[in-house]
Amino acid sequence: MASSLVLTAGVWAQKPPLLAEKHVAALANELSGERAKRNLEGLARFHRQRGSEGFHAAAELVAERLRAYGLSDAAILQFPADGKIFYGTQRSRPAWDAQVGELWETSGPAEQDEKPQVMSGEKKIASYEAEPVALAEDSESADVTADLVDVGEGTRESNYVGKSVRGKIVLVSAQAGAVQDLAVGKFGAVGIVSCAQNQKTAWWGEDENLIRWGHLETFSANKTFAFMVSLKTARVMKERLAKGERISLHALVRAGQHPGSYEVVTATIPGADPKLKNEEVAFSCHLDHQRPGANDNASGCATILEVARAFEKTIREKRLERPARTIRFVFPPEIEGTMALLNGKPEFAKRMKAVIHMDMVGGGPETKAVFHVTRGPMSLPSFVHDVAWSFAEWVNEESYKFAATGQAGYPMVAPEGGQEPLRAEYSAYTMGSDHDVYQDSSFGIPAIYLNDWPDRYIHTNFDSAANIDPTKLKRAAFIGAASGYFLAQINGADYTNLLAAVRTNQFERIGGVMRRASQLGEDESEKLLRQFGKNEERLAITIDSMIPVSLRGDETRPPLPHLDRQLEAILHGQNPNTDGKNIWKRKPEPKGALAVFGYDYFADKTKAAGINTPKLMSYEGLWGGGEEYAYEVLNFADGGRNAQEIRDAVSAEYGPVPLGLVVEYLKAGEKNGVGEEVK
Ligand SMILES: [Zn+2]
Repeated sequence: MASSLVLTAGVWAQKPPLLAEKHVAALANELSGERAKRNLEGLARFHRQRGSEGFHAAAELVAERLRAYGLSDAAILQFPADGKIFYGTQRSRPAWDAQVGELWETSGPAEQDEKPQVMSGEKKIASYEAEPVALAEDSESADVTADLVDVGEGTRESNYVGKSVRGKIVLVSAQAGAVQDLAVGKFGAVGIVSCAQNQKTAWWGEDENLIRWGHLETFSANKTFAFMVSLKTARVMKERLAKGERISLHALVRAGQHPGSYEVVTATIPGADPKLKNEEVAFSCHLDHQRPGANDNASGCATILEVARAFEKTIREKRLERPARTIRFVFPPEIEGTMALLNGKPEFAKRMKAVIHMDMVGGGPETKAVFHVTRGPMSLPSFVHDVAWSFAEWVNEESYKFAATGQAGYPMVAPEGGQEPLRAEYSAYTMGSDHDVYQDSSFGIPAIYLNDWPDRYIHTNFDSAANIDPTKLKRAAFIGAASGYFLAQINGADYTNLLAAVRTNQFERIGGVMRRASQLGEDESEKLLRQFGKNEERLAITIDSMIPVSLRGDETRPPLPHLDRQLEAILHGQNPNTDGKNIWKRKPEPKGALAVFGYDYFADKTKAAGINTPKLMSYEGLWGGGEEYAYEVLNFADGGRNAQEIRDAVSAEYGPVPLGLVVEYLKAGEKNGVGEEVK
């Protein structure tokens, strides 16, 4: 049994896709997972909050490396952030820094007729100096001694019934920002201690020692401070309070918001073609987050930095030809920095033809991560995702062959890293990082998104460099580098191979869409398949944006005739009858997704216009919900589609949704100024 498997695996000598083997070999040999990890360890030393000294130190480190590696135009761009300036839909958040953050347990001031309690002395519970994650972002200065009151989750009024919290510090299990208006604003608490847990995964709440990165609401009128503690610390305090014990805390905080800047590090490898060098393929990541933030996202930063170094060196040594298009690298604070860059310097958005975004690409077995090559939203079909998947699938095969047999042409194993197979997945669009900004219809730049999910240590003090696998970094670097290089040099000679790669992936997608269609009734499944067919057609046409028809020689046949015929056979019936005949379009300004970082433009303007929150925002579909529908409804509102067509498009993506909800959302968008009906 086993030996026949080995034999089968051994016979495959799979050639690398899309690129000449010498180029693939140059990248595979040059990219180093260890070097990427060393840079990651450097970044993980800094507490990298937006606009903070820690972020600036990380930015300086990246800029210094880019210059040392020989890249061109290395610079740290600055975009003022004071809480007033808008970058498209992003209200800039002022910078935030902390110098001191200490939480002590003390014997405290005894109340009038109470016997003073005997304490064994003061005990430090949390320290920003030792572990910066302990002080929530946007905390304000304080020097208070007050009793601790357990209010459970802390997000509902009922949590406070029968409890006197005025002048006290509340212990909550929700994020500090979710309780501050109630606890501090309404009930008069003077501060918050939170044991909120990180993003939900199967391991959520399991490790009592995790301390989660905490946030207060940047724009809340109820300024306060919040300390983050582990479940273990909170559990002991809760038990003591439940027994009627009094806990007095001394909080000493020197921190606060101040006018500052979003800093975006950038550098380029100039293209060789006099005309095409004005077009760019950009590598992106996000440089901010708590210390250590190793996987999220020192990993993405260190990996694109390694790609930059490897390109520069192999081009200099003539192992790679300089590509026609310019390759750019950007290191912003997540979402808000990208919003500042694309809105503040619109020429960047204009030049970018495609983006390779890396956010969490180094998780080793300890993190439980699954690696994803994530496609774009259906509103922006693009061939670039199939390019990335072609390389990822090849790394899957080669690394599996190596793990299973000990032999492979390109195992892509780092000497200090693991030897497990990659097992990357090609995944439908998921939101949550800068790729949302690029792929929003305001900018319409397709973005390959390489990302780990889950990671049981995300956004905690345990997201440390020890869990990062150099082999994983090397493979992510290779998939990104090969995709980026292919896109930067793409020309007419690539057309046939590219079309074949797209077609292979389309056949796999047909299987997926048929499975989804089988979950639906006849009417909805027909609509789904029709949308799918349209999407695939649009996807194939996107090749034209980088290989003009004039460059293809004989290869000017219409894209994917074979697939069209297949779909024709699947599809029958008439055009859908349309209740929602009115055509909608998003206004060109302001640019950006509507719920960005620390600020929700749509919610803010909807409230100001005095209208109810559209029900679509909380609608749960078969394959997605709320925010995802909202994002795509506006993206599909392109001035060509009517409400019914928009409804059918988002239904194909996230599951059937009533037309009425889509229309209600579009109308709310008209009232709050982001969209309009085309008369
Ligand atoms: Zn991230």
